[in-house]
Amino acid sequence: MIHKIFLRNTLTGETRTYDDDFDWPSDNALRFQYFEGNYSCDCNRSLMMHDHDQSKKLECSAYENVIAIDKILREDGTEVPHD
Ligand SMILES: [Zn+2]
Repeated sequence: MIHKIFLRNTLTGETRTYDDDFDWPSDNALRFQYFEGNYSCDCNRSLMMHDHDQSKKLECSAYENVIAIDKILREDGTEVPHD
């Protein structure tokens, strides 16, 4: 199942979506990776925003994120809840 990740650079306002085609076993697994795991880090989020262009890669930061995730949609258009 493809998840659409809505990314936003909080400094520039630039927004992009990223299609995640990993077969996540559950919403919790996906949420963990994006909000607590390694995809919570700006380095990975910046690569998602820019088609893995290493020149656009940001410094690591998982606490004061430059790149925010506004929402995550499932393939059927429903939102993965996150608080
Ligand atoms: Zn990092």
